[in-house]
Amino acid sequence: MVGSQSSLREANRARVVDAVKRHGGLTQVELTGATGLSPATVSTIVKELVAAELVEVRNTIRSGRRAQLVTLAHRVGLVAGVLVGARQLTVAVADVSHEVLAEQVLPLPAEHRADTSLDRAALLVVDLLERVGSELDEVLGIGLGLPAPVDAASGQVTVRGILRGWDGVPVAQVLSKRLARPVFVDNDANLGALAESTVGAAREVHDALYVRAGHGVGAGIVLAGRVHRGVAGTAGEIGHVQVDPAGNICSCGSRGCLDTVVGDRALLEPLRSSHGNLTLSDVVRLTNEDDPGCREIVADAGTVVGGVVAGLATSLNPELVVVGGVLAATGEVFLGPMREALRRRTLLQQVTPLEVVPAALGTRAELEGALALALQHTDLLEQPDTGPNGPGDVAVGQVRTGKGNR
Ligand SMILES: [Zn+2]
Repeated sequence: MVGSQSSLREANRARVVDAVKRHGGLTQVELTGATGLSPATVSTIVKELVAAELVEVRNTIRSGRRAQLVTLAHRVGLVAGVLVGARQLTVAVADVSHEVLAEQVLPLPAEHRADTSLDRAALLVVDLLERVGSELDEVLGIGLGLPAPVDAASGQVTVRGILRGWDGVPVAQVLSKRLARPVFVDNDANLGALAESTVGAAREVHDALYVRAGHGVGAGIVLAGRVHRGVAGTAGEIGHVQVDPAGNICSCGSRGCLDTVVGDRALLEPLRSSHGNLTLSDVVRLTNEDDPGCREIVADAGTVVGGVVAGLATSLNPELVVVGGVLAATGEVFLGPMREALRRRTLLQQVTPLEVVPAALGTRAELEGALALALQHTDLLEQPDTGPNGPGDVAVGQVRTGKGNR
């Protein structure tokens, strides 16, 4: 029976470490709720993990009361996040307590390709590590976000045409080979959903939708606290839901997709004759400066996106819709019409009315998600194996930095 007791202890320890990994930091009371373990068990495990230098405990204030916040110890290691956008590449290096140590943004050409972009990303990771006085072998894992549906295992884009220069490239493998570190890839909206559901606006919610409205529109679906990706990673790809049967042909080959109506090109075109050549950031800035034409465009986009999200909300019955991406930076100009369209097109019910809120992490949600993805895939606890003193005596907190942790 000693064996089964020690494996239970290991399992409980893993639950505590996983909860701290997911949420960045939790009080002991929150840990009890998140793990389902008793306060006494949580307290014992936290003490053991502190002794093993895997977690740190510091004083904090929660709901006006003093509490002890448990976070992963900084020295455990680093993670890197890489976010590939329509026009830019963002790379960040953070420690395991979710603190970003260095970050940089580089512009990308309009039709960027995997080989050159991943070269730049690899160089930038090394460069940022150098800046914070660290080495590659301190990096436990790298999370990478792409603006297309991807297969989580290979990191390959699963629908051709959406991100042309990346078709057929096993992205995780390529970057992992260049940096000799494990790399995990996901769709950008899924990463936003991951970050918002673990450390952002949907932290306390089981079922939520994350909508990313920017150069294109995508959604991440959180069910029972987990991001739902679907069999080929296309779950939540609302940018490719048809909204205009007579509309333009989309990058995916279909006609009249949401992206052809509210993607950046579609939003900028009607402003060309009145405002000249604007970027999406210009439109957001001008909207926030009360420019009537830009406000009109953004508000109409909110209505159309809300109509499509309503279909998803009717099917999945989430508690909360979190809105991120650059268009959410216009606040109620975008969110108001979106909320109204959702109100009109989902079943009105009295139990838990659907709420629509801006992303707590703002436009940083996807990058934070990339860091969280890397951390989630990292096994920080050595599994008990056949040490000289039996499985019960294996020290906790030995950091695994080897590859193949998936
Ligand atoms: Zn499409």
